[in-house]
Amino acid sequence: MKTARRAKPHEISDAILAPIREELLACIQCGTCTGSCRNANLMDFTPRRLWRLVLTGNTEEVFHSRTFALCSACYYCTLRCPRGLPLTEAMHALKRAAAHENIAEYRPSARFYGSFLDSVRRHGRVNEMEFMRRYFILMKNPAIPLKFTPLGLRLLRKGKISIFPDKSKPEHPLDRMFRRVEELEKAK
Ligand code: SF4
Ligand code: SF4
Repeated sequence: MKTARRAKPHEISDAILAPIREELLACIQCGTCTGSCRNANLMDFTPRRLWRLVLTGNTEEVFHSRTFALCSACYYCTLRCPRGLPLTEAMHALKRAAAHENIAEYRPSARFYGSFLDSVRRHGRVNEMEFMRRYFILMKNPAIPLKFTPLGLRLLRKGKISIFPDKSKPEHPLDRMFRRVEELEKAK
């Protein structure tokens, strides 16, 4: 398992940002992506600003930003970009890079997604209790479960989640698909 460390973004700038920058060279800074993004008001940099920072090689600000973590992959900016740029894929590339480099700001998101996918892989669907239990263990912060307690109780009362363990087989057929994706990723 990779040791947690606070990667200094400038150490990784060219290796990581170069291919993303290459895809965005035709950006004309029109701001359509920002105007299209429903999450832009929650982001510290708007999508247009983030692409500007990527283009100018400002890696430190890019990877300290919460912008790509808050992208919900709705593809609206991609559909509307007048230059036809692969913006959602670029957001994905930043997420992958931040997870790979164990960037501190992105660590909670990476653990959240990892726990979610792990549960889907094992059961063919998300098992909410198992998913959150794994996430809480990975986060090693007792304050986080407390924050989720009111939501958990509401869901339990409405019968949306169960406290009983999932009885599905430990290896779901979906696991084969995950393994295949891993093989394809390694072969790249
Ligand atoms: S919509 Fe496309 S061209 Fe316009 S700022 Fe965003 S990325 Fe650049
Ligand atoms: S794909 Fe991401 S950045 Fe683009 S509009 Fe949707 S949430 Fe915003």
